[in-house]
Amino acid sequence: MSFASRVEPSVCAESVLEPMFDASPYAVLYAAADGRVLAANKAVGVFFGLDPAELVGKQIAALAEVWARSFTEFMSFHEVIAHPLEDHESEFLRDVEIAAPAHRFVEIASAPVRKAGTYAGRLWLMRDVTHEREITELKIQYGGLRSADEIKSKFLTVASHQLRTPLNAIRWNLDLLLGDGVALPAETVEALRSIYRSVTSSISIVDDMLLAVDIEQRTLRLERGAVDIVDVVGKVVRDHARSAAMRSQTLAFAEPTPRPAPLFVDAGKMETVFSRLIDNAIKYTPDGGRIAVEIRPVKDEVEIAVRDSGIGIPDKERTRLFERFYRSKKAIDVNPNASGLGLYIAKFIVDAHDGRIECQTREGEGSVFIVTLPRRSVI
Ligand code: ADP
Repeated sequence: MSFASRVEPSVCAESVLEPMFDASPYAVLYAAADGRVLAANKAVGVFFGLDPAELVGKQIAALAEVWARSFTEFMSFHEVIAHPLEDHESEFLRDVEIAAPAHRFVEIASAPVRKAGTYAGRLWLMRDVTHEREITELKIQYGGLRSADEIKSKFLTVASHQLRTPLNAIRWNLDLLLGDGVALPAETVEALRSIYRSVTSSISIVDDMLLAVDIEQRTLRLERGAVDIVDVVGKVVRDHARSAAMRSQTLAFAEPTPRPAPLFVDAGKMETVFSRLIDNAIKYTPDGGRIAVEIRPVKDEVEIAVRDSGIGIPDKERTRLFERFYRSKKAIDVNPNASGLGLYIAKFIVDAHDGRIECQTREGEGSVFIVTLPRRSVI
């Protein structure tokens, strides 16, 4: 579809183009690939409190100063204007808050512009969404506390799901890069390992947030089936092998013989439980330490123990471990980035299976967390 077939030639005359350009309730800003502002309509002037003619012909970096005066978050200039100009591919949509000349919420949409297939510059369209925001806020206010809470957890769920996918993609790619057969300089490997640690801990925090919301809202459902618990634990141990190896810890798991008969449990939730326990054992055990996972049938129950030679837990704190958000002072020193939700979630899941979870520990010597699950519930 040619341009000429979509726009009457008469529109290109300044007398038509100018009123059309300025009639747009959207602020329209266009900069060439070299950063020179080529077009700005009247609404740009209204949003920023300036004469748009002041901008045209100048480098878009000149807008940074105006942005700092008007926008509540200064960093948004880099995110919304400077960096995107370097980005020849992505489109985006973002809300920003303006403090001056008037308090506004502005939705900014942006897309790269191509001429004959080559990047020619970038277009920004900005729309005042203050009114819509106010209506949403009123709805939340008058919809009562319950719906505000619901909206909050909905946001949390959406945000966590959105974060999980890219974080997992980063983790998978790091797994490839850190895998055998990829030769990289030692400093690069060290840097990648540090990213790997941050990414895995961010994934568990996001997962914990999602599970905690499900528990609070009573939407956590068990999908039970006949499950070989040795397989489940074995998988979790394998998933944690890299994290343990990176800290020169031994992570031992001897499959019991004979294997216990299948348990009637939710396999995915059991993975969550043992992944929290093994994750903690790794986190709270110094480099070079030992972690061992054991499975033992005892009468009509099965015991799964995760033992570590880590920092242990002082007696007076032991009773609080399973509380939501509880973290011991020592744990915060050792690992400041964690949610304090892991054991709360693990206990909730184990209780829901009519099981028990207990901790035997000695400060400075290590801990063992024992999960006991009934065997009678096998169908
Ligand atoms: P966190 O996100 O802090 O690891 P958890 O709920 O999993 O949260 O654990 C709660 C607290 O229990 C931890 O902050 C730590 O103080 C203690 N803890 C859990 N597992 C261990 C362990 N294996 N060794 C020592 N302390 C532990």
